[in-house]
Amino acid sequence: MADLYVVGTGPGEYEKMTMEARDVLSACEVIAGYKVYVELLRQHFPDKEYIVTGMTEETKRCRLALEAAESRRTAMVCSGDAGVYGMAGLLLEMGQDYPQVDIQVVAGVTAALSGSAVLGAPLGNDFAVISLSDLLTPWDKIQLRLKNAAASDFAICLYNPASSKRRDYLKRACGLIMEYQPPDTVCGYVKNIGRKGQEQRILTLRELAEAEADMFTTVFVGNSQTRCIGGRMVTPRGYKLK
Ligand code: SAH
Repeated sequence: MADLYVVGTGPGEYEKMTMEARDVLSACEVIAGYKVYVELLRQHFPDKEYIVTGMTEETKRCRLALEAAESRRTAMVCSGDAGVYGMAGLLLEMGQDYPQVDIQVVAGVTAALSGSAVLGAPLGNDFAVISLSDLLTPWDKIQLRLKNAAASDFAICLYNPASSKRRDYLKRACGLIMEYQPPDTVCGYVKNIGRKGQEQRILTLRELAEAEADMFTTVFVGNSQTRCIGGRMVTPRGYKLK
C-alpha cells in the first residue's frame, strides 16, 4: 500500500505546526501544495521534491499528489487544518480511483483556533464557523446560515470574509447579523495569523461592517455575552465569579 498524507500545517509559522505534521513531512519524499504555502515550507524541508500548483488548480493538485504517492511517500499540505475548507475531502473523493493509495489525514491548527488565541478567548462557548466565499456555496445558503447562527446567539467565526471580487461581503454579513444582535456586539479580526504582518483589532459589530478585510483575515463576531476584558475578546463559558 502506498501512503499519501494530507497535512494541515497550521497558520503559517513553522513553530505553529504540530509535531506530528512536522514528523510526517520529514518522512515524505514529495510535498504537494499551493504555491504560497509551499514557499513557507521550503526553507525547513529543503531536500524534498515539490509539486507546486496555483490557487484554482485543486483537482490537478490532488491528481498529481495521488500519482506521486503511487511510487513515493507523499504529503499534500494545506494551511490550517486540511479538513476545514481544505483539500482532505476532495482528496478522499478522488482517492476512490486510486485504491492502492492509503490516504491519512493529519490534523492542523485551523485559523479559528490560532486567531482566537491571538484575540483572547472569543470562542469560549458554542460557536459557528461560516465561510463567506460563494464560489462553492450559494450566497442564499450562506445568508441563511448567518441568520440562524446569529438568531441562536452563537459566537461566529467567519472565514474568507472578502476577496477582490467580494469586497462588500463582510458588510452584508454584518448587516444580516445585526438583524438579531445589537450593533455594539464585541467583535474582532486577525490578519496574517502566525505570519509576517500579523495584525489584530477588537471592535463593535457596527465598526466591523465598515472594516477592511482581505483573504488573509479571520473574523470573530461575539455572542450576547462576549466582552472586551483588558483589551482581549472574551466569550465567557458562564462560570460564576464571586
Ligand atoms: N484550511 C484553512 C482554511 C482555508 S480557507 C484553515 O483551517 O485555517 C481560507 C481562509 O482561512 C482565509 O480567507 C482566512 O479567513 C482563513 N485563514 C487561513 N489562514 C489564515 C491566516 N494565517 N491568517 C488569517 N486568516 C487565515
